[in-house]
Amino acid sequence: MIIMKLSATDDDIYSVVDSVLRMGLRVTTHRINGRMVIGIVGDEHLLDVDRLSALPGVKECLPLTIPYKLVGKEYGKTVLGTEFLEVCGIGTHKLVFIAGPCAVESEYQIRKIASELAGTGADILRGGVFKPRTSVHSFQGLSSEDALCWLRMAGKECGLLTITEVRTEEHAKIAAEYVDILQVGARNMYNQDLLAAVGRVGKPVLLKRHFGAGIEELLQFAEYIAAEANPNIILCERGILPVGKGRQFTRYTLDLAAVPILHRETYLPVVVDPSHATGSRVLVPAMAAAGVAAGADGIMIEVHYEPDESWVDAAQTVDIDTFKRIVKECRELRKLSYEL
Ligand code: PEP
Ligand code: MN
Repeated sequence: MIIMKLSATDDDIYSVVDSVLRMGLRVTTHRINGRMVIGIVGDEHLLDVDRLSALPGVKECLPLTIPYKLVGKEYGKTVLGTEFLEVCGIGTHKLVFIAGPCAVESEYQIRKIASELAGTGADILRGGVFKPRTSVHSFQGLSSEDALCWLRMAGKECGLLTITEVRTEEHAKIAAEYVDILQVGARNMYNQDLLAAVGRVGKPVLLKRHFGAGIEELLQFAEYIAAEANPNIILCERGILPVGKGRQFTRYTLDLAAVPILHRETYLPVVVDPSHATGSRVLVPAMAAAGVAAGADGIMIEVHYEPDESWVDAAQTVDIDTFKRIVKECRELRKLSYEL
């Protein structure tokens, strides 16, 4: 990271950026309180720190030794401050709720769910249009612009922001026209090209942890989004592979220690998804509360007016009354942790 002097001219900044680019690296630039801060992205072996330090207008070159520099606490705090995701207030004191069906099934379905969620405490309406299904023989999501349009309309009518998952660069470009936040699902956490693509689109991105990924890997892959000069990233813990034989009781194992660790390591807000983690609606309220107790900035829950009729993930989907109870309990718990 290169910190420029307050007195640095545009020519000084241009010349530093040009030198970094000539070294075969990329830059992200940020102006903080009038001072230019230049983040360097790419293969560190190509970097000539002595040359850059000697350029006019350079105050200092700060080496950041962790592998996830751009999303790391040090850089994030210096460059971004902490309350950067103004779009939904996440990462501030507000506990944010993302709620909605696993998949958008029809215009009627998503508008009805949105209208029932309005006023319950939900902030962001979720609904999958491009579903990452395990079986090619199951419903893959409506995969249409119509479905994205219904999601947007449902959110707008009810004062909710919207989020949907994208699996390809093409999806990202189309979905960005309709929703406020793009989701990269667990299965795509390792897809560098997709991460760079959603980064370039410039919308806030919710990145789910792969069920086989370490916490460091989640941070390093979030870095691919940040490297496209998109700092608006929300991390999501949604469970890792369970140990032992079978998955009779839980679908995954919710790794709640990840929440305080991520808060220690990064400036990014962290959401907990108890629905996909447990796969079982009776476990969702307790695990949502546990997520809040662990310090989550938000909770993502699958909700449907008729959970058993959900086309996807019915077993883990809760009804509206249960969602209301979850919001109430989580808010009380959150208040308690702030009072302590
Ligand atoms: C989802 O949120 O719809 C989803 C498919 O979740 P995950 O990527 O965590 O499995
Ligand atoms: Mn689902």
